[in-house]
Amino acid sequence: MRPLADTPKPPMHPATIAAQAAGAIDTETAGVVPAIHMATTFMRDAEYAPMNAENIYLRSHNENTRVAERLLSALEGAADTLLFPSGMAAVAAVFRTVPTGGAVVVQSQIYWGTTAWIREFCARRQIALHEVEASDEEALAAVCAQHRPALVWVETPSNPWLRITDIAGAAQIAHDAGAALVVDSTAASPVLSQPLALGADIVMHSATKGINGHSDVLAGSLSVSDVDSAMWQEIRADRDMAGAVLGPMEAWLLTRGMRTLPLRMREMSRNAMRLAQFLVDHPKVETVLYPGLPDHPGHEIALRQMSGGFGGLLSFVVDGGAEAALHAVGRLQLFHRATSLGGVESLVEHRHTIEPHTGIPEGLLRLSVGIEDADDLIADLGQALGQ
Ligand SMILES: *Cc1c(COP(=O)(O)O)cnc(C)c1O
Repeated sequence: MRPLADTPKPPMHPATIAAQAAGAIDTETAGVVPAIHMATTFMRDAEYAPMNAENIYLRSHNENTRVAERLLSALEGAADTLLFPSGMAAVAAVFRTVPTGGAVVVQSQIYWGTTAWIREFCARRQIALHEVEASDEEALAAVCAQHRPALVWVETPSNPWLRITDIAGAAQIAHDAGAALVVDSTAASPVLSQPLALGADIVMHSATKGINGHSDVLAGSLSVSDVDSAMWQEIRADRDMAGAVLGPMEAWLLTRGMRTLPLRMREMSRNAMRLAQFLVDHPKVETVLYPGLPDHPGHEIALRQMSGGFGGLLSFVVDGGAEAALHAVGRLQLFHRATSLGGVESLVEHRHTIEPHTGIPEGLLRLSVGIEDADDLIADLGQALGQ
């Protein structure tokens, strides 16, 4: 499976790049869809030269992974992308580059799995971890100037608080302190936000979420503009040797999922906006956290650094605390009660049950809004909350 065409050249739009999987086809059969290549090892000729110089062994050379990486690079506006077997494997790949005894600054109240792993990892490696609310630019600047970290990690929009960090501002602050800025852009996807263009050094995704979009692949990604940076070279070499690679089948599924990514993100964002507006006016709802709402504290920044919508992630606080929230959740018919986000089907989570000691309001429900008809989703929320 050699892609015939290179990545489509600008000014191709994301929908075009995605629909045609950045030019990937099956040149063996002329199929419009790439084949799945499961071989773990590749032959040498009688002179003992590789019969295909690009393929020696699957841990380093997987054509399905390369196709998915090329597509993701094209969508992200990146020079290079590496796929990992999960989002957390991508997170770990970044933090493993921090020297023992170094310092990192990490946004507080982000995806709980990231926070929990980073705390454990930094303690084990004698890395000084400074957690700060990075959407507060002054607080971020103060911590960076004081501790001179190797790495600044932000997540925007953040999960489940939907806080918005100014990526360009955070990049400036990180670089002034001699740090690299890494942005977890999972909730935005490359369709709604392109952190590299705003100055981020690396953008990370849990591709398990919107990028794959069908709740059937676990994967993560890192993308970069400067392929020659020492950090990127280290990450690439470590993936190669330590072997945190995606399987061919998962990479193929990911490519298939990404073909509809722009379409799905647009629809999810539109649905989430409709739901946010419905919930804002609902008498049993205290607060709605959605960056698309004009009174959201990060709305102006979101307007600047996101385009095409504000994503499918939305949280709201039910009046009456945990009891009222869980009562409503139990009555939902259409939303699946399940963790994760970014799939075509809508999900609901009571985050306080999962992470009770992290300051999450007891009545907070987090929705991952899918691509169902918004009227059906609104009717379901309405009947569950009670009018
Ligand atoms: C899910 C998620 C992760 C972790 O990714 P996995 O694919 O589950 O390992 C990291 N960051 C964010 C924002 C996520 O939603």
